[in-house]
Amino acid sequence: MSEQFDVVVIGAGPAGYHAAIRAAQLGLKTACIDAALGKDGKPALGGTCLRVGCIPSKALLDSSRQWWNLGHLFGEHGISTQGAAIDIPTMIGRKDKIVKQFTGGIAQLFKANKVSAFYGFGQLQPGRKVLVRQHDGSEVTLEGRHVILAAGSESIELPFARFDGTHIVDNVGALDFTEVPKRLGVIGAGVIGLELGSVWNRLGAQVTILEGLPDFLAAADRDVARVALKEFQKQGLDIRLGAKCTKAEVKKGEVRLTYTDAKGEQTLVFDRLLVAVGRKAASRGLLAEGTGVQLDERGRIVVDEHCHTGVEGVWAIGDCVRGPMLAHKGFEEGIAVAELIAGLPGHVNFETIPWVIYTEPEIAWVGKTEEQLKAEGIPYKVGTFPFAAVGRAVAMAELAGFVKVIAHEETDTVLGMHLVGANVSELVHEGVLTMEFKGSADDLARICHAHPSMSEAVHDAAMAVHKRAIHKVN
Ligand code: FAD
Ligand code: NAD
Repeated sequence: MSEQFDVVVIGAGPAGYHAAIRAAQLGLKTACIDAALGKDGKPALGGTCLRVGCIPSKALLDSSRQWWNLGHLFGEHGISTQGAAIDIPTMIGRKDKIVKQFTGGIAQLFKANKVSAFYGFGQLQPGRKVLVRQHDGSEVTLEGRHVILAAGSESIELPFARFDGTHIVDNVGALDFTEVPKRLGVIGAGVIGLELGSVWNRLGAQVTILEGLPDFLAAADRDVARVALKEFQKQGLDIRLGAKCTKAEVKKGEVRLTYTDAKGEQTLVFDRLLVAVGRKAASRGLLAEGTGVQLDERGRIVVDEHCHTGVEGVWAIGDCVRGPMLAHKGFEEGIAVAELIAGLPGHVNFETIPWVIYTEPEIAWVGKTEEQLKAEGIPYKVGTFPFAAVGRAVAMAELAGFVKVIAHEETDTVLGMHLVGANVSELVHEGVLTMEFKGSADDLARICHAHPSMSEAVHDAAMAVHKRAIHKVN
């Protein structure tokens, strides 16, 4: 006998829990299955994001920033920091408490919205049945009018540097070091490498990041990447580009890493090595024979623009399908699919998904870069404004970075916004909103911005598109 639902969701990460809660809000009888266990061995909802991703990394970024500012910023304010000390287990404990609060919060939201939670591994069978192998060893079969696959992603492992959980780790290990490694190696200068490399660098580790590509942050605006690289190097991050790693050996508690770059073959010795070379869809074991759901060459579930798999009533969302691997992209897909199932016009606009890297300074963007527009032959104009000329930024001693607004040469429609600076994770949403409403640089320039605030950089950058910025020479 199988239990009947309107909607069965596999995976309770950002994509899956949004889909489940929205479906339940719309009056659909909903179940959500998740296999993950927390650090305490108990089921923990919320996926990679809440357990070992967005939230714990931001908790440690914030703790480490406090410590860094103590040593690098407080003196300027006339505040003495003699005798300051750091306690890593307390810092990690605070992070764990935040994780528990949020994973427990999803369980409460499920309860309040009458989403039935199942704890175990779910496998889609033909005919929209889902077999759940529960943690207690029992099995249950759920049957849905609709099934939403939201299995998420897992770290890519390099064949020569297998994760051992102690010396060679992915994000899970690097969020849980019990002491500051003296020498931390990182393979991959992407989002995870830069965020977690920054955490341990601020706490005192000597961090070396080896990036395979010759360009730093190849997906970002070139001016943003240039400014960010300079700032990270000033902070002591040793970032080596065009480095092809070939061997990692663990011996006597150390990792010997061999790589080749323009200078030839070199070896570095680390206490810990973080491998952060991207993530892959977690589709292993998810699909039984004969479901008809297709995987692409990267193991991602094939879907159309509405997240439909082509198999009647089967949908897939979040990191396990195409598109950026971002929690908020999964949120929107989850909501859109639940609404489509309920007969509403669910939709995700891929053109306005913001990207943020939570380093110091932060990096954020939405829309197209100048390089993309050039390649697409779209005529554009640009306005920039530096934070060093913003009163609030100077008062806060946060001078690094700038805002760049890109608008269409003829229509003035905003096509992209690129930012590097303090708290630009918040400011980027001015670009998101303007683009969603198909606004122009002139619209943005004519919107009143509070003084003094960091947002004045956005205002002046929009005015600079028409060479009428007030606080700089155009
Ligand atoms: P996941 O969060 O991976 O959740 C999938 C869930 O499904 C998991 O709980 C898994 O256990 C479960 N599951 C999988 N298969 C099955 C199965 N067969 N049966 C039952 N359960 C199953 N993104 C941002 O937007 N901002 C950030 O700041 C950010 N920081 C990050 C930091 C780190 C260190 C990492 C690793 C990622 C970060 N991300 C960030 C990315 C973000 O975590 C992911 O994009 C997001 O979690 C994807 O959501 P999801 O629901 O698709 O998948
Ligand atoms: P990433 O794709 O951001 O970066 C991986 C980096 O590793 C790239 O620069 C790539 O060129 C490099 N690389 C790949 N193979 C290599 C090799 N063999 N040697 C050296 N360098 C190599 O991936 P990530 O940092 O692992 O993060 C995974 C995903 O998680 C990201 O794509 C992002 O979507 C998500 N994430 C988002 C945030 C955020 O939004 N703030 C934070 C963390 C993670």
